[in-house]
Amino acid sequence: MRNEVRRPVIPPDSSSRSRIRRRLLAWYDGHKRDLPWRRRAGDAYAQMLAELMLQQTQVATVIGYYERFIARFPTVADLARADLDEVLALWSGLGYYSRARHLHAAARAIVEHHGGVVPSHVHQLMSLPGIGRYTAGAIASIAYGRRAAVLDGNVVRVLMRLLALEDDPKRPALREQLWSVAEQLLPRSRCGDFNQALMELGATVCRPGIPDCDECPLRADCRGHERGLVDRIPPPARRATVRSVEYVVAAIRHGGRMLFVQRPLTGLWAGLWELPSEPLAAGETAGDGLRRLRERLPPKCRIKDAEAGTATRQLTHRTVLFHVYEGRAASAALPATASYGVSTGPRTGKRSARTGPKSSGSASAGPPARWLRPDELSQIGLSRAGLAVLQLLRWSA
Ligand code: SF4
Repeated sequence: MRNEVRRPVIPPDSSSRSRIRRRLLAWYDGHKRDLPWRRRAGDAYAQMLAELMLQQTQVATVIGYYERFIARFPTVADLARADLDEVLALWSGLGYYSRARHLHAAARAIVEHHGGVVPSHVHQLMSLPGIGRYTAGAIASIAYGRRAAVLDGNVVRVLMRLLALEDDPKRPALREQLWSVAEQLLPRSRCGDFNQALMELGATVCRPGIPDCDECPLRADCRGHERGLVDRIPPPARRATVRSVEYVVAAIRHGGRMLFVQRPLTGLWAGLWELPSEPLAAGETAGDGLRRLRERLPPKCRIKDAEAGTATRQLTHRTVLFHVYEGRAASAALPATASYGVSTGPRTGKRSARTGPKSSGSASAGPPARWLRPDELSQIGLSRAGLAVLQLLRWSA
């Protein structure tokens, strides 16, 4: 058990709240980072895009993706019209791909139900795919100036230290109390700036580990600092168990192209494209997986027995090892059954026919599969794991 001391949450009193608002906003005016979405503060679509990208991803990683995305889809209507594959292709490498699918679905819902205008009320925003209470509060306050609070990991840490709460930050009852404190702290105006200031303070000053209290504008009101508790708040999180999983992957070439298949629309790397692969069960060898994979490949495919190499990818809760084998196909036939466990659907034949040699197999009955040249990879969504495998094969545009 961790050293949690559950004390009642006592919000700052009125004069402390006023001081916190004033000092935090003044600090933000002088210290805020120049981020591309902050230059479009009144653009709710830009805020929605940035907030979804920033979930579980560092600012430095997001900037390039955000700029490419907003240049390609400058408005919510542009995004709603787009093909999901193109959206996933632009998201490739950013991880947590359900965010991209939710963003795309949200854009379509906004066009269909809100006349193409991102709604401004928290409850309307929360009815959109992928928009939770935090994201709704961020969009409503930053883009529309509404008095809506936010509570992300940074804000939780700042508030827990400010109030000297030695508790589990994931405990639902505590979360509710912190939401209430965040709402009480909101100023009458500049709510968007205030929320961003709280998050900015958490990201740059009141950081995880040892905070930089000497630089903090809230030090005079910080109970955690006053009581010498800041290095204990929040308590260290329990380490998640990391599993190992292995796949056998077939890199099948034909006439300058390589065979790609689409993953199922749910689960890990949902909807992304990859080289045909086969997961290994516990105790299986790569040879076992290779045997199964050979049975499932299109006709006239030859895969070498010798492994071309391995690629490893570390995910949050698992380590993935790919055993990569190279091969050639004598014809451009595509898989005729859903044997990779990929989804089938009415769009399959259309997509398969769009690029590469025409299938001599029954593409309309099979899984989404395409022969692609390296310069065509920008048309599909690929995970970082998939990119690592292609890197091993030196297969890139
Ligand atoms: S004084 Fe220290 S612990 Fe308190 S809010 Fe500021 S940085 Fe965080």
